[in-house]
Amino acid sequence: MPATTPHDRRSTDAPEQPRAVFRKPMSDPVPIPAAGVARALELLRSNRPFRYGEDTQHVSETARLEAELAAYTGRRYAVAVNSCGCSLFLALKALGVAPGEPVLCNAFTLAPVPGAVAHAAARPVLVGITERLTVDLDDLQAKIRTSGARVFLMSQMRGHLSDLAAVARLCAEHDVALIEDCAHTLGARFDGRMAGTFGRVGCYSAQTFKHINAGEGGVVVTDDADIAAQVILMSGSYMLYRQHGARPDDAVFERWRDVTPNFSMRMTDTAAALLRPQLPQLSAWTERWNAAYRHLEAGLATLPGLTPIRRDPREAFVGSSIQFTVDNLPAAGIARFIEEAAAHGVYLKWFGAERAIGFTSRYDQWGYVAAETLSATDAVLRRLLDMRVAVSLDAEDCATILRVLGEAMAAARRAPSNRVAA
Ligand SMILES: *Cc1c(COP(=O)(O)O)cnc(C)c1O
Repeated sequence: MPATTPHDRRSTDAPEQPRAVFRKPMSDPVPIPAAGVARALELLRSNRPFRYGEDTQHVSETARLEAELAAYTGRRYAVAVNSCGCSLFLALKALGVAPGEPVLCNAFTLAPVPGAVAHAAARPVLVGITERLTVDLDDLQAKIRTSGARVFLMSQMRGHLSDLAAVARLCAEHDVALIEDCAHTLGARFDGRMAGTFGRVGCYSAQTFKHINAGEGGVVVTDDADIAAQVILMSGSYMLYRQHGARPDDAVFERWRDVTPNFSMRMTDTAAALLRPQLPQLSAWTERWNAAYRHLEAGLATLPGLTPIRRDPREAFVGSSIQFTVDNLPAAGIARFIEEAAAHGVYLKWFGAERAIGFTSRYDQWGYVAAETLSATDAVLRRLLDMRVAVSLDAEDCATILRVLGEAMAAARRAPSNRVAA
């Protein structure tokens, strides 16, 4: 039985059941395996949390992680860095993006994405999204033409996979380099092929709320030797690049070692130690996430006015969060629904909120990006809600969450200002 609070009984529509309350944390991160913690402690006790050593025989945890990530993604090269945001920046720099240059990126993404473009002193040009939260291919084509951009930094925002083969084809036709931001798609596939392997570069995150958790961390994968060598040097390898775990040959570094700046964006060896035992767990975690996702998706579809985002059957996604639209309430009613849910332990994020809150922001709230109007995108974001799916959720948790949402919606609709004309 879900726990309840007696004071939630409302006298208006009596007799009423006490309202459900969800009492577990909504944002449980993936657990860091004990073996990872033990190895990280060993590194700390030996005073060696740094990936490089002057001992040329030294094989760091970070180098081992790089080899494992290259094998996992099936890419030739993998470089571990300090965050996904920095991995995006390094990818842009390695592609030779110059100050002032236009870079295409999704209008629906997280702030570190336009932030990475700004970090490279380039100019974000926003591409709209569809109702499925994927890239609007017509808008992409139009923006490629009008902007003259050479690079598309494409987010698989909240794990929604666009038709990646179509995006890659369109980019190739116009000689646009594709960078995939896979912060929420490590372990996901489109049409059988791993996310992060459709473009020139794939970038992943190891920040606490993503699919592997070291607190902070990012990864760049590529098959391009010149990009890999530059990212390694720029990440801050000094001339110790031979200590990398999935790197190009020395001859490639000869082209770059004396002309490439060091931006010091290294992953710590302790972070790598925490991450290594997580990779083998990822498919088991994905099964748990997706079982909860399917339960929530089916339940949301039965609640009046709530519609889970439709997904392409070719997506093998990782359901670490779920998105849905609210179709029967004005903005004040959506705000009330969110308050009602939060008061009963279920935390929702809203892409239509007036101001950026917490992790959530909308493209027109990035004041450093040239203003653009994307009406179709706005129409989606205005009604779009987002909920984290913790890997720890079981069937009973999902049922309680759905009850809370159903009751919150009923309460929001009861509020006089939110009554919709039938
Ligand atoms: C989290 C996230 C990032 C940035 O990852 P960090 O490791 O926190 O820098 C980039 N893009 C998307 C879509 C994200 O969700």
